[in-house]
This record gives sequence, structure tokens and C-alpha cells, in this order.
Amino acid sequence: MHISPIVAAMAESATLMMSRKAREMRAAGHDIIDLSLGEPDHDPPAFALEAAAEALKGPYHKYTPVNGYADVRQAIAGKFKRDNGLDYTAEQIVISTGAKQSLMNVIMALVGPGDEVVIPAPYWVSYIEQVRLAGATPVVVHSSLDEDWKAPVERIAAAITPRTRLLLFSSPCNPSGSVLTRAELAQLAEVVAQHKDLYVMADEIYEHIVFDGKHESFATLPGMAERTITVNGLSKGFALTGWRLGYIGAPLWIAQAATKVQGQFTSGANSIAQRVAKACVEADPAQLAPMRGDFLRRRDLVIAEVNKIPGWRCNVPQGAFYLLPDVSASIDGTRIKDSVDLSMYLLEKAGVSLVEGNSFGAEGTLRISYATADAKLVEAMQRVSKAIAELG
Ligand code: PMP
Repeated sequence: MHISPIVAAMAESATLMMSRKAREMRAAGHDIIDLSLGEPDHDPPAFALEAAAEALKGPYHKYTPVNGYADVRQAIAGKFKRDNGLDYTAEQIVISTGAKQSLMNVIMALVGPGDEVVIPAPYWVSYIEQVRLAGATPVVVHSSLDEDWKAPVERIAAAITPRTRLLLFSSPCNPSGSVLTRAELAQLAEVVAQHKDLYVMADEIYEHIVFDGKHESFATLPGMAERTITVNGLSKGFALTGWRLGYIGAPLWIAQAATKVQGQFTSGANSIAQRVAKACVEADPAQLAPMRGDFLRRRDLVIAEVNKIPGWRCNVPQGAFYLLPDVSASIDGTRIKDSVDLSMYLLEKAGVSLVEGNSFGAEGTLRISYATADAKLVEAMQRVSKAIAELG
């Protein structure tokens, strides 16, 4: 048996691993509450399902253009204009099998051995492994809870070298829920403007889950449209994780390079999911307000429970559906050596699955996904609290 060194060195997605463990324990008869997966528990909007049913009647059963159906790309360009103030043509849009593939296409298209990708932490788990898969080097810029989990711009600037080709971040952020303000994005844009070969991948997949104010797209900042790949998709805002549909808006040459990569990987995204995407991006985003309201209520509910646990600290995130408390007070260095040990202890003792912070570049934390029914969240947090108390 021989697997390639790159894949041998690759980490399994920590979030998927925790969900798998939770599923296995549940199958073995344990009562597990899974707060590990980044997946809305809401049903998808009815119009999305109707669009799928309509699409099944055809003529959408054959290969689509590699970058996606032209009318769907046009609709996505319209969404970028309407919601984000961005001017992309349909040729600048590439539709893919989830935002995860959108990210991978661009990383493969832009970086390789010898190139560096600056990634502010905490970051979404897959960024690091995707960059490594392309043979490039991730350069992590750390931040702390007291900084609201936002790496200060000077620290990001200091990490940029002549080898840096890409800056990669999500706002709203998975795993912290932090949202960069327009002023913070503007500071970042000033840094980017000083480096002519530096591009930015702005992962905006949580754009519809912002609690205060409105979502800001990095590419709207002066000079940044030519430098930015804007990533989005249906998974979070429309609760369609299983349909696997993501997209980018990018400078034409990057869109073309991403299409070339995609042509060798998948030949394009699923045809029916693309038709659903058209319905989603054409729908009035105001329809998503009830879902956002649910997340806001649950955020406050989980924060209240976290604050009752001695030593645990958290901020008040402005978006997404995650909380990243600092739980270092419960890591004693012997019985519980790190956040991995703590997550395992809580899975076994409390029957609650949370993701350890180390794989997000934030050791000493646990990520709580609160995309779960209120009563379950309260029960989970009470079980966690009891298990932590038993640690002594
Ligand atoms: N980016 C971020 C920040 C995410 O949290 C996720 C999903 N967990 C993705 C991208 C990938 O989304 P998709 O399901 O569209 O592949």
C-alpha cells in the first residue's frame, strides 16, 4: 500500500471527524447531542425545493458548461450586484460543487510550491489543507479572544513576504462568528494595495447570517475588485448543504483558470443544483430573516450558558452560527492536556460533540455550533457544565 506523501500528511477534517464520532456513538446507543457540524437545522426554503422539482422535468440532465449554465451565472452576477454592490459579468462567475470546491479550484489555479498563503486564525479547517494540497505554504496569523478573534491588520501586514500570493479569510468567520467591519476591511485593502502580486479570497458564505448591520464585500473596496475572489454558495444561507453548490465571482483570468481546474476535476456542478441556485439567488433575501432571528436567539442562549461555566470566556459574535469560547481554564495539562482531550472528554462524559480549537488555529478553545433546536442547545450546555464541574 502506498499513498502519496501529500495525502499521507493531510489531516482529516476535524469537523467531519467529530461528526463521524458523534454518529458512531449514537449508532452504538449513546445519547449524543451533536454541536460539531456547520449545518443549519432549518429546512431549505420551499421555493428552492420547487425549483428542483421543476428542473427534474428537464432539459437539465446532461453535462452543463464547465463553469455553469449561462443563465444561472447571469443570475448570480445579478445577486452580486443587488446584494453586494459588485459588478461581475456572467463570464466572471464559476459555479462549483460547493464553496469548498470553489476555494480549491482557485487555490490550485493561483498557488503552488514556493508560494505562501496568509491565513488569519482562527480559520476554517479546510483552508490549511487545501493550500498544502496545492503544494503551497500556509502562513498563519494568530489572534485572541480579547481581539474579538480578529487578527490586527499590522500583524497580517507583517506576515506578507514577496512570496505571498493569496490572503484567505472568511467574514462572517467560521469558527469565531466574527464579522469584519467596513473600516477593518478598508485597512486590509490598504495593505493589499501595497503588494502588486497579492490576491484575496473573501469567503462570504455566511453573508446572510449577520446580526448587526449589513454584510460588506471585500471586493467593493477601492481597487480590490481586480484583486479579489468572492466565494459564496447555498449551504449556509439556504440550508442546502447536501446539494453541494458554491460559486465565485472573480477577475476574468482567475475565473478562467478556476474553470480549467474544474474541467479536470468534476466537469462542472450538478445540473439540478444549479437550477436551484438560480431560484435562490433570485429570491428576495428578506425571506431569510426568520432563520437569522433563530440564530440570534440561539447565540444569546449559548452565550448565557457558557458564561455560567467557571473559567470559560467568550465574546459576542456578530454572525454565522458559531461560538468559540476560550476554555483554557479547563485544560490542566495533565488529565486534559489540550482542547482535543477536552472535546473527547465532553463527548464521552456529557455526550456532546464540539470541535477542538487547535484545528482552527486557536488552541485552548472549543467551537460550539448553535445551529440546533433551542431546547437541545440548553440541554447540551447543561450537560457540558456538569461534566466540567466534575473535572474539579
Ligand atoms: N467556507 C466556510 C467558511 C465554511 O464554513 C464552509 C462550510 N462549512 C464552506 C466554505 C464550504 O461550504 P460548502 O458546503 O458550500 O462546500
